[in-house]
Amino acid sequence: MPAAPSDATSGDHAAAPPRTRSWQAWGWEESAATDEQTGRLGAALAGRFGIGLPTAETPVPLGSVELRAPRVDPPATLAHLCSTDRRDRAAHTYGRSYRDVVRLLRGDLPHPPDVVAHPADEADVVALLDWCASAGIAAIPFGGGSSVVGGVEADVGDDWAGVVSLDLTRMDRVVEIDRVSRAARIQAGALGPVLEAQLRPHGLTLRHYPQSFEFSTLGGWLATRAGGHFATVYTHIDDLCESLRVVTPSGTAESRRLPGSGAGPSPDRLFLGSEGALGVITEAWMRLQDRPRWKTSAGVEFPDLGAGADAVRALAQSGLFPVNCRLLDAGEAMLSATLSPGAGALLVLGFESADHPVGAAMDRALELCRDHAGTLPTAPSSTDSGVPAAAGTGGAAGRDGAAGEWRNSFLRAPYTRDALVRLGVICETFETACTWDRFAMLHAEVTAAVEDALRRICGAGWVTCRFTHAYPDGVAPYFSVLAPGRRGSELSQWAEIKAAASEAVLAAGGTITHHHAVGRDHRPWYDRQRPDVFAAALRAAKSAVDPAGIMNPGVLVD
Ligand SMILES: Cc1cc2nc3c(=O)[nH]c(=O)nc-3n(C[C@H](O)[C@H](O)[C@H](O)COP(=O)(O)OP(=O)(O)OC[C@H]3O[C@@H](n4cnc5c(N)ncnc54)[C@H](O)[C@@H]3O)c2cc1C
Repeated sequence: MPAAPSDATSGDHAAAPPRTRSWQAWGWEESAATDEQTGRLGAALAGRFGIGLPTAETPVPLGSVELRAPRVDPPATLAHLCSTDRRDRAAHTYGRSYRDVVRLLRGDLPHPPDVVAHPADEADVVALLDWCASAGIAAIPFGGGSSVVGGVEADVGDDWAGVVSLDLTRMDRVVEIDRVSRAARIQAGALGPVLEAQLRPHGLTLRHYPQSFEFSTLGGWLATRAGGHFATVYTHIDDLCESLRVVTPSGTAESRRLPGSGAGPSPDRLFLGSEGALGVITEAWMRLQDRPRWKTSAGVEFPDLGAGADAVRALAQSGLFPVNCRLLDAGEAMLSATLSPGAGALLVLGFESADHPVGAAMDRALELCRDHAGTLPTAPSSTDSGVPAAAGTGGAAGRDGAAGEWRNSFLRAPYTRDALVRLGVICETFETACTWDRFAMLHAEVTAAVEDALRRICGAGWVTCRFTHAYPDGVAPYFSVLAPGRRGSELSQWAEIKAAASEAVLAAGGTITHHHAVGRDHRPWYDRQRPDVFAAALRAAKSAVDPAGIMNPGVLVD
């Protein structure tokens, strides 16, 4: 079994030296911040907090991690799909939230999965679920393992004979392309780059780029209703999904391929966002796009977040639909891009199209920004050669100015987060969405609640905000928290800060999550947010498709 995924066989990076997926942190082992880089980061932050930070903690090596012995044995017919390798079990114990990374760093893994299964096709998934149901074993679907809400955590309580983590990444093929309808049938375990590499020769793209793109899968995106980094229109995976195929313990469900349908509640809507609690998504027909040929981006500065928010609302209601429309407050901008003296917010704005030049849309968008006190330090950069633009989320900072700087720092951010964790810094994000009429109040109250919590719990700290998605009727604000932790107590400190943030979000009328999903971590607030009648209907659906309750216990419903 492939215990340590490497990209040597993906075909997407054939010329690059092989790299090894970290079992303990984000991404590739080879891309982690070095001790020297971590030290420099610590010195810079110590200046910011005005306190000394401890020296970087050394990650506990895998050999020193205590893993309890597997409690279950797969039947002989499934043994070839199953691994009890230490590295494999450790790598499937948690997702990649701040809380997960702290525990992985310290080798704190009391509840590893007993077995990691690597099904190669749908028949394997059926056989594995049959085994789990008959033996009273909890089954946790696992895509890229990038969950930040405890969605893949193998701690499911004592009611189960064991836990099997179902790693879907061997099921990674684009099986069929319908060029006429511009759609493809894609297996759920395909990681972002693997999927795009198979679409590229056809001049097509899914164009779904969450920040976790490199290490998350189509099935994970569908199961969590992921949001891509585009700000408007084609960004939610829900909207890109034409039909789904799901293996549940009660049988397989496949919806009909349709561009739209008024035939009652949509079967897809039951499984989109089901977070592995109803079944395993094995494949989906996905709506594709032609690769963009024209692109333009600009960084617009505003005196403060309020003026920027007014401009974003005007843009979202204008029908221009920019693909990028990220507003960063001063703190966020300072972390990831440059801001002119006196500016209080930066809007990273972009348009692109496979069909027509986008200069006119940018011109009108900049007029709207100017109406709201926006200024443009440098002219927009454009690609309008008529040649399809390169895929992916990267960009040259030099060419794209503030927008490019922001993109580069965005992609590097999870590695930086891991370095900060080693320095004892509490470093996490939380996100929500609200209608425009509530935004100013929500922003003020959530910021005040978190700043108060940081003062009480950490003595110092920093909360910043950016917009990830903008809608005609509202916005998705995304908050980042940085604070000096007390070594050994960081997790309880973060739990208190997170609870304060979540209470403030719900009180201000926001959602407990806009795109990070519910998992185990958001349950207390999700249970309060959803209507009781809906919770009862969801429980009934769960007992219909998963009568023994083996699918990802503790997630979404009990
Ligand atoms: C650094 C970082 C950046 C992130 N950026 C974004 C972002 O920009 N946008 C965003 O939306 N999210 C983001 N996330 C969160 C995470 O990447 C998403 O939730 C993603 O959709 C999870 O995909 P995955 O394949 O890693 O799923 P996993 O983490 O493996 O699983 C997530 C959930 O889906 C279930 N699941 C996985 N595969 C299947 C399947 N085939 N069938 C049924 N259930 C399944 C799991 O059981 C679990 O409940 C980020 C996370 C990190 C760590």
